Amino acid sequence: MRFFGKKAATDLASSTITSVTESLYKQNSELAVRNKTLSLLRQLYQISIQTIEPESLGKKIVDTVRSSLEFELVGIFTINSTDKKLTPLSFAFSDRLREAMSKSGESTNLGVSDIADNEFLLSIFTEKKSRHTEKLDHIWTGVIPKETVAAWTEAAHIKTTAGYPLIINGEIMGLLILSLNREYDSLTKFEQESIASFVDVVAIALDKAYLYQELAASNNRQEGLIHFISHEIKGFLAKNEAAFAGILEGDYGDVSAEAKELSEIALADTRKGVTTVMDILSASNLKKGTIKFDMKPFDLKPAVLDAVKDQLDAAAHKSMALNVHIDDGAFMMSGDEKEIGGHVIRNLIDNAVKYTPKGSIDISLVKQDGKIIFAVKDSGIGITDEDKKHLFTEGGRGKDSIKTNVNSTGYGLFIAKQVIDAHKGRIWAESEGPGKGSTFYVELEMMK
Ligand code: ADP
Repeated sequence: MRFFGKKAATDLASSTITSVTESLYKQNSELAVRNKTLSLLRQLYQISIQTIEPESLGKKIVDTVRSSLEFELVGIFTINSTDKKLTPLSFAFSDRLREAMSKSGESTNLGVSDIADNEFLLSIFTEKKSRHTEKLDHIWTGVIPKETVAAWTEAAHIKTTAGYPLIINGEIMGLLILSLNREYDSLTKFEQESIASFVDVVAIALDKAYLYQELAASNNRQEGLIHFISHEIKGFLAKNEAAFAGILEGDYGDVSAEAKELSEIALADTRKGVTTVMDILSASNLKKGTIKFDMKPFDLKPAVLDAVKDQLDAAAHKSMALNVHIDDGAFMMSGDEKEIGGHVIRNLIDNAVKYTPKGSIDISLVKQDGKIIFAVKDSGIGITDEDKKHLFTEGGRGKDSIKTNVNSTGYGLFIAKQVIDAHKGRIWAESEGPGKGSTFYVELEMMK
């Protein structure tokens, strides 16, 4: 059975082919837009998860959006929530637009007039909706001469300039400006939607960068306070230390046996207090990046032997053996001897003695494949899986560490890690669990 005559069938076939081709073309171009949008969203996501300042983030965003979608201009303005002034954050231009701009000699500060005097921008703010115009000079009305902007428009073939409000929680935090070399009506609905989808991502990324900036500033203030308080306390403690030491040395004449005993305890406690405060100060300095490491070649062997010597009394007190194994020859490395020897090595041996109620400690210093490996193995309280998560973090003392070490603060290993990181080395701990002892390792580059 035939429904159509031959000619009608041919006509139908050709019109079907045309419509199939058209629909395929439409699908293909939609697919291309979709791919571009997805790839742009992926890139914007990658940018948004970086913890960087709003200025750098803005620059990365405008550059990425402009080059992905071949816009002539992409710009971001931020709005000050108190005086409602718009400030340019970042701009990206096509080569031809940049050339035209530099030819015109106009200042590259693309600040706009007060928003209240700019009808185009004002309506975006009051209606919280995007707007587009054929005239680029609507953005810089009253700031950059009309003829100058007209020359830019012509050089870059700009047909449309659109402004999108950047909205977070219903509040406008800024404005995204896009200039393209196509009429707005020639954009498919799909293209328009794809623009709207990345505008939201830009707003979120920027909001996160501002939050990060605020947080960093408040952290800095807090660090400053900690630094100040620690410094003051250190001053008082130092005076106490000198006073108790003076009493014990007889500077104030003869004192009773009770006063002497009390002064001995007070002096030891004050010294522990000084160490704690110094650790907090060092941690604060390390975090602020104000510690300068004095990198010089030195031999690690004497540093290890000195640290061992200092712990002999404490170990003997517990009838504990300190077994030392050191490979032959020097252990030359480049680094800050005071920080590595005086802090890291000392802290690890000190911890091993403190956290081992009874048993023994093996200290070794060996060379392996161009590296120096320092290890302290103890038969002490061991480390629980839960405590392992906080080791080497600020204040990361063990849940029960205070039971074995009343002066536990959790700063020693944090500082040690910062120091070893600055020397591009590795520090880590191994323990099979509570009661099974621990081994702490440090790996450092040997000098060739
Ligand atoms: P502190 O000893 O003042 O607490 P550290 O930063 O030196 O600070 O150590 C952090 C935590 O690591 C300790 O509180 C303890 O729980 C654990 N730790 C360190 N060394 C040992 C060790 N040799 N054996 C068992 N636990 C240890």
